[in-house]
Amino acid sequence: MAVEAYLTPSDVKKTIEKKVKPKPSTKELTTIEKPGKAVSASDLENSPDEKKRKRTSKNKAKKTETTISKAEKDATLIITEKPQAAAKISSALGNAIKYSENRVPFYEIERDGEKIIVASAVGHLFNLTYSKGQTGWPIFKLEWQPAHKGKGAAFTKNYYLLLNKLVKRAKKIIIATDYDIEGEVIGWNVLRFIAKKKDAERMKFSTLTKNELVRAYENPMKTLDWGQAYAGETRHKIDWLYGINLSRALMSAIKTSGTFKILSIGRVQGPALKIIVDRDREIENFKSEPFWQVFAKANNLNFKHPKDIFDKKELDEFKEIENATAETTEKEENLSPPHPFDLTTLQREAYKFYRLSPSNTLKVAQTLYLAGIISYPRTSSQKIPKEIEPKKILRKLENRFPFVKEATRKYPIEGNKSDPAHPSIYPTGDFKNLSGDERKLYELIVKRFISCFSQDTKIANKRISLTADNGKKFTISGMKIIENGWTKIYPVKMEEKSLPDMKGETKIDKIDFKKRETKPLKKYTATSLVTLMEKKNLGTKATRSSIVDTLFKRGYIDGKSIESTELGKKLIESLEKYSPIIIDENLTRQLEEKMEEILQATENWEEKENKTIENVEQLILDISKEFRAHEKNIGEKLKEGITDLRDKQRENSRFMTCPVCKEGNLSIIYSRKTKRNFVACDKYPDCKTTYSLPPNAVIKKTGKVSEEGLPILVALKRGRKPWEFKFDPNWRDNRQNSS
Ligand SMILES: [Zn+2]
Repeated sequence: MAVEAYLTPSDVKKTIEKKVKPKPSTKELTTIEKPGKAVSASDLENSPDEKKRKRTSKNKAKKTETTISKAEKDATLIITEKPQAAAKISSALGNAIKYSENRVPFYEIERDGEKIIVASAVGHLFNLTYSKGQTGWPIFKLEWQPAHKGKGAAFTKNYYLLLNKLVKRAKKIIIATDYDIEGEVIGWNVLRFIAKKKDAERMKFSTLTKNELVRAYENPMKTLDWGQAYAGETRHKIDWLYGINLSRALMSAIKTSGTFKILSIGRVQGPALKIIVDRDREIENFKSEPFWQVFAKANNLNFKHPKDIFDKKELDEFKEIENATAETTEKEENLSPPHPFDLTTLQREAYKFYRLSPSNTLKVAQTLYLAGIISYPRTSSQKIPKEIEPKKILRKLENRFPFVKEATRKYPIEGNKSDPAHPSIYPTGDFKNLSGDERKLYELIVKRFISCFSQDTKIANKRISLTADNGKKFTISGMKIIENGWTKIYPVKMEEKSLPDMKGETKIDKIDFKKRETKPLKKYTATSLVTLMEKKNLGTKATRSSIVDTLFKRGYIDGKSIESTELGKKLIESLEKYSPIIIDENLTRQLEEKMEEILQATENWEEKENKTIENVEQLILDISKEFRAHEKNIGEKLKEGITDLRDKQRENSRFMTCPVCKEGNLSIIYSRKTKRNFVACDKYPDCKTTYSLPPNAVIKKTGKVSEEGLPILVALKRGRKPWEFKFDPNWRDNRQNSS
């Protein structure tokens, strides 16, 4: 069974943290730990690395005993989604004192005689799982369980334990998770499963800036946003039901073919993969056709005939042309600034300028948000509401970005899309020293924001057209910038091209024919795919980029210009034939609409959730029947794909002839047992040659060869630059010789 093998929307909010020590003993769990050193939170906030802080901070704050053991209800408990948000909120609300228990920080503040505790979750603290006692598939009974009981989320345990203690001191709870459906589910789960409460106050904010946080604290919503909460829960349940049942169905089909591989396909992954496979088919079936472009040279300019000519005979009609009449027209045009950034537009532009993938862009934007310097990035809004006080922000930006003086427009340019939860992505005006991708993305956001307040750029388009004596037309266009407005700030390519004025009789010096061939549509990139998914309403702004990542991880797609693998193709082929409903994008879209309805509803959310889930259960029952009936056929098709994938993987891991047997090839192999890569001869068991490789990294071949003729391998480590090294099969001998 492969619960971990499919994507849940919660994946997009999981923070990868250091591994937590193994399960503490019951004794550890019941004794109260000594509190960590108390340090004023505002002193700490600027340093990015908590570990480093602990070592370097001069412990100027007083030591204070935590009162966590006392179960008196003496405080208001604010619960955030991430530790960084807790730090920001506590320092916004007053002189915070930081504590930590099992390395999980929390803060205490006195404000107007009230005690406030700020603590955090760390993304989702609860996951869905199937209720015990269900076997086979389809299964429908599911329940929330603490995330740390499942795989890969051990780091959430100490947060869970701390919140369990802190709720005992809470006379009032305020949920202050990110304001969107995922954040609402995170807060709701803490509220109902840890605090055992039905409702709470809710802070709503789009930036982690002091002013906004204070305002959100002083004017909280009186209840959770139940539309968000139920829409979120519905999404989790639907995706979970899809995930577990389709994975089991696929696994069962594969088993019939006598092979094994963990396969899965999610509710959105299926239609997304089909889009890619369809494009590949189009490209494969494309037959290119020759055609001709016709140019006329006159006055040292190259004029082009507007039509492409596919019938070669037609070219004869151009051969005799000698004279034409010229006419010049000029038209001024105002180019308004582009609308402010919503997430998809930011992802597209970041890819265009910096080749940042959509998921990386979201990751970097999330960091900038948690640093308090940009607003919440998971937004579809293209609006700049006056409540965010943009003029104040512009004034704050002025010190670092002198081009703010160009922001003379009274009302900003806005786009059509809005988002009830958040405005567009904008800089808050606060600063932090940045480098690398963070700096690039931040500056792009600043430039975009300022350009929304800048003047139009005025250009003049010039066009000369030639009409030959036999009626054939040729044209050439030029452009001149009359007045640079927003284009002084925001990076755009604008090439000026000046043209003379031409009028009346003109001699044509030469006619040129250029033969070309029609080209197939382009393959998708991660960015164009995310954009298309948005257009088709597949997935959500928060999940699209990670869905694309998952298709890569599963081995269904490959390459920077995305191509489906044989496995991806076979999967789609078999589903098209035997269970087309799984990859039907209309169905996925209808479900998105249902969830949108719940989100917008003002009552009866639970009823709507139950109805939607009942529909999905019926659907899965139908799919299961189809699947069972064709299990063998599906299995056979998938086997072909799996075999191909394995062959390719093997091919990709071979990098040199075995120096011992001289017959086999050395290849990089992953050992499940030792969880690391090593090199072995593929003539095993006849040849037992092996070499060890650097640990804790994924090793791949580069295809490159050193000057000495040694193959170059590369070690890939999370968060590190790839490290290339020469693989020397005589390494051991050399060492013996030289020592
Ligand atoms: Zn060998």
